[in-house]
Amino acid sequence: MIGFDYARAQSVTDAVQQMTASNGAKFIAGGTNLVDLMKVYVEKPAKLIDVTHLPLDKVEETADGGLRIGALVRNSDLSYHPLVERRYPMLSSAIQAGASQQLRNMASTGGNLLQRTRCAYFYDIATPCNKRAPGSGCSARDGLNRMNAILGTSDACIAVHPSDMCVALAVLEAKVHATGPRGDREIALRDFHRLPGDTPQHETNLASDELIVAVELPSRGFASNYTYLKIRDRLSYAFALVSVAAGLEMDGDTVREARFALGGVAHKPWRNAEAEAVLRGKPANEASFAQAADIVLREAKGFGGNSFKIDLARRTIVRALSQAARGTPQSQSNKKIA
Ligand SMILES: Cc1cc2nc3c(=O)[nH]c(=O)nc-3n(C[C@H](O)[C@H](O)[C@H](O)COP(=O)(O)OP(=O)(O)OC[C@H]3O[C@@H](n4cnc5c(N)ncnc54)[C@H](O)[C@@H]3O)c2cc1C
Ligand code: SF4
Repeated sequence: MIGFDYARAQSVTDAVQQMTASNGAKFIAGGTNLVDLMKVYVEKPAKLIDVTHLPLDKVEETADGGLRIGALVRNSDLSYHPLVERRYPMLSSAIQAGASQQLRNMASTGGNLLQRTRCAYFYDIATPCNKRAPGSGCSARDGLNRMNAILGTSDACIAVHPSDMCVALAVLEAKVHATGPRGDREIALRDFHRLPGDTPQHETNLASDELIVAVELPSRGFASNYTYLKIRDRLSYAFALVSVAAGLEMDGDTVREARFALGGVAHKPWRNAEAEAVLRGKPANEASFAQAADIVLREAKGFGGNSFKIDLARRTIVRALSQAARGTPQSQSNKKIA
């Protein structure tokens, strides 16, 4: 075991000051990802700054009709919050599709955003991995890559971001509020996670000394026509092979506004503005949704073990958008749409 210091932050200011004063410290919230990574020597923090007692555990309405979610709101509490269930049911569904009830009881909103990839080689310190050891190579490209990315990959890394929650947050166009030694700032969710490029070790645009304090949702929740569809190897307790969060605004059988994001396929939740725009004013049918899927997957590239994901993603997009259009967010209905 590698030794480390531990301290409980007494306030947000204290958390930031402790982080600034220590070299190699990390914040710890639920610990469901960080502790696992410490056990296999992937994360080796010199100090853990426990933020779980900070007053960041509230869900509050904002003046413009949105919600502000404290960084320490547990995934379970968020997914079953009455305002979230009523106004952002896509977010409830996405969170409940992740992990297990016990994990969701521990996992925090901030920690979920910052959870690290599940690429098997990232966890195995005996193998090369550019994300864990920059410059060492990528074992997944020619190795076991069934769970890896098909969009936005680089020569250096083909890992995916594993979160379900973040896929819904991408569609809802959430904002992340952070604070640090240089003050407070707001990061749009679309700019929060990065593509791997040449620096896969940098997964987000949050600096290592910044603390997430909240996530803000704008008022638009797509509560009538939404879905979160997660395709995985087991029906529960498995990461996504492909997932799609979709939100539509409809005029009868015509799409007025469409947003959708994919999980399990890239280093960040994947949206495509052109694919969403092409649906505007189109009939809500399979042909329209297939056209949008083709645009998203134009640039997709498989690496052997994960090549099946390209067709799987196409079918998942069509099915998710069809469910959202029908107003049947769960997968129970096979009824053909108009
Ligand atoms: C077996 C298993 C199955 C899982 N399945 C799924 C799944 O299907 N879908 C899914 O989405 N997730 C899944 N997860 C992941 C789970 O959702 C994450 O582990 C969890 O959300 C992380 O939250 P946490 O509070 O425990 O984070 P921690 O482990 O405490 O921290 C994670 C990271 O975030 C940093 N951090 C935490 N809070 C803050 C903050 N406020 N500001 C700055 N940095 C912070 C920490 O320093 C650390 O780097 C699974 C996890 C396990 C163990
Ligand atoms: S895909 Fe990324 S995380 Fe996986 S082995 Fe390659 S560099 Fe490491």
